[in-house]
Amino acid sequence: PVVTRFAPSPTGFLHIGGARTALFNWLYARGRGGKFLLRIEDTDRARSTPEATAAILQGMAWLGLDHDGEVVSQFEGAARHAEVAHQLLAEGKAYKCFSTQDEIAAFREAAKAEGKSTLFHSPWRDTPESEHPDAPFAIRIKAPKDGETTIRDEVQGDVTIKNAQLDDMILLRSDGTPVYMLAVVVDDHDMGVTHVIRGDDHLMNAARQMMIYEAMGWDVPVYAHIPLIHGSDGKKLSKRHGALGAQEYQAMGYPAAGMRNYLARLGWSHGDDEFFSDTQAKEWFDLSGIGKSPARFDTKKLENLCGQHIAIAEDAALRQEIEAYLEAAGQPALSDVQSQGLERAMFCLKDRAKTFPELLEKAHFVLTSRPLDRDAKAEKALDSVSLGILGELTPHLQNASWSRDELEAALNEFAAAKDTKFGKLAGPLRAVLAGRAVTPSVFDMMICLGREETLARLKDVTG
Ligand code: GLU
Repeated sequence: PVVTRFAPSPTGFLHIGGARTALFNWLYARGRGGKFLLRIEDTDRARSTPEATAAILQGMAWLGLDHDGEVVSQFEGAARHAEVAHQLLAEGKAYKCFSTQDEIAAFREAAKAEGKSTLFHSPWRDTPESEHPDAPFAIRIKAPKDGETTIRDEVQGDVTIKNAQLDDMILLRSDGTPVYMLAVVVDDHDMGVTHVIRGDDHLMNAARQMMIYEAMGWDVPVYAHIPLIHGSDGKKLSKRHGALGAQEYQAMGYPAAGMRNYLARLGWSHGDDEFFSDTQAKEWFDLSGIGKSPARFDTKKLENLCGQHIAIAEDAALRQEIEAYLEAAGQPALSDVQSQGLERAMFCLKDRAKTFPELLEKAHFVLTSRPLDRDAKAEKALDSVSLGILGELTPHLQNASWSRDELEAALNEFAAAKDTKFGKLAGPLRAVLAGRAVTPSVFDMMICLGREETLARLKDVTG
């Protein structure tokens, strides 16, 4: 069975790159009936904060990336990590190193001066136990001195490095704390992780991690190191490019389904498919579809996909997600009446909105109530000529049957009788019904509002 994991360090919010890594792992596991685990890599006590962990969990919850089992804290596993270091020591695959920081620094300086590799070679590797001092020691792995290590990566292909480039990495510091590299391997092994999908900034770590797997006689997981995300200018994604946090995208009003779709396409492809559902993504996602070069973040593409997902969303679910968006964006909650109105109007709102703020702008007519406030454009549309004509509209609407087709026919007929075109009345009618210039079609608004409210809004203007 497939087991993947997302292993963020809780030093900040869930950034876009992390969200995509989580998504890839989630898709891979979910598409294969596997498990997707979450491990918080909080061993760096100075930089890890509970707020960051909360932000990561919230970002994942927004994106619907549900994980299996408990959230694992790496820090809490420290005793187990130390145990593995001691096991390797007992088996002669690691050794006690008594070199002090000063000695190591001096070694490096001397090597540098001589133009030699600064890779530290501990004099303790081959010193018999009987000659050991009674002093604090670190535990170092006995790295292979020659030969090569090949990382078989599903994205990068085979990456081979000379073992001479690897030093005897510390597993356990002299204060007894395990190093990050050991913790990752032990946790991945203990959690039964079969596939490690992560940023390619960890590719070289894989070679070091493989040494530990090797020494413990554990199976190395399948690796897939994915290229980083770049901005639209081709440079590494940074604050300069705008928002970086997943939750910032929520607060900007992008639907989670659109974001998932977009992030899935960011560095992974399935033929020419751009717009797809979660079900399709889970079915299609595989490691061979991941590209080797960095993907570029493209806001236009994101918005385009978001628009398509809004258009096909179910009304009630969409309304709920919009309410969650308002909360995330720190905006006032909708009243029950507004919430019901929004859901009722969804049929004429969701067609062309790429984001929730866009949708809400058009929804103003159901969210507002009489007497309507009117923006400058709406005010301008209500000139005296239009007002005069609209003043005679009421009787025509009193008897019209309240369906889209009938209303359209009635209004066209009315316009013709007034020697004008419906098109000329549309602007003033938007002003009457919504107090805004950007609205759904006049007929859709009338259907949504119903006869009574429509006539009341008309009367408010024409007197
Ligand atoms: N904690 C690491 C990071 O946030 C990920 C390590 C891994 O996936 O193995 O970059």
